[in-house]
Amino acid sequence: MKKFSVILLLLVVMLQLSSCSQMKAPAGGSVAGGRNGGVVVLDIGHFIGGDGACTPGAVNGKRLTECTWWYQYVYYTKKVIEDAGYTCIVTNRGNAPTTEPLASYARRAGVVQLNHPDKNGARYPSTYHPDRVAGGMVSADYAISRKADCVVFLHHNSSGGWTNGPSPSLIICNKYNGGRLGNALARTLEHTVLNRGLDNGGRGCSVTVRSKDADRSAGWMNACDDSGIPAAVIECAFLNNRKHADYLANDTNARRYAEAIGKGVVNYMRYFGNEKRHYRADENAADEGSFGYAAESRRLNVPGAKRLLH
Ligand SMILES: [Zn+2]
Repeated sequence: MKKFSVILLLLVVMLQLSSCSQMKAPAGGSVAGGRNGGVVVLDIGHFIGGDGACTPGAVNGKRLTECTWWYQYVYYTKKVIEDAGYTCIVTNRGNAPTTEPLASYARRAGVVQLNHPDKNGARYPSTYHPDRVAGGMVSADYAISRKADCVVFLHHNSSGGWTNGPSPSLIICNKYNGGRLGNALARTLEHTVLNRGLDNGGRGCSVTVRSKDADRSAGWMNACDDSGIPAAVIECAFLNNRKHADYLANDTNARRYAEAIGKGVVNYMRYFGNEKRHYRADENAADEGSFGYAAESRRLNVPGAKRLLH
């Protein structure tokens, strides 16, 4: 058993060394694949007034919602990334908050307001890949416009069973480019918060690929993938779980959680940020994950969406 652990450790070290040797940046500070190097986009999920999931009641005097929680704590995620030398842009697809303390939180984190609240869950196509369709696509399009090196969509979960079965703490990543980002985030959360204050029943954090536009959030994942951008959605803490909500309502814990995500991004960028990316080869070729290729695209009329299936 001990011998096995040593061999495993050696393998991990060798793997890291081999990936390090591939990631020497060319002269001039640019990185492989002609990318602009070191731009991370953090997107606060949902929008003010359409906050996403929330706790069933007050927790430690606060009623937490996905969107407002991240407005308050994204600053700490961003700071970890910036302190490691990367550019970090925080976005939210809604309008700027006008009430305090949210307005101050938005200023502190320098939130770029995309001024596009997607009311009533309306789905619309990506500007860059019009066969990709989703609500919230404006955030993915922004990351594409900035040629981001990775994008993390900041959410909390509230659905599904929690105590039984496989780990409910989840990171969703895109199919071609997102695996290493998802794993880096999951491992950092495991080392820092999961089962270390944030009870996860002793289980780790799952990493799942979502690649059909029809599934929630997959349209963003696919649009980013088409443009060679690793993307991940954080769905690790459950707002309808008492223990998780208690954890997130505590300021020290909340910062720890937000910083853990920053560290996960930094780990990813350090070891894999310069890896060659996968780009979609042919925008007109059938892609079974795309809305444009699903029978749904014949049934649902989404203005501006491109159909690949006729
Ligand atoms: Zn959400």
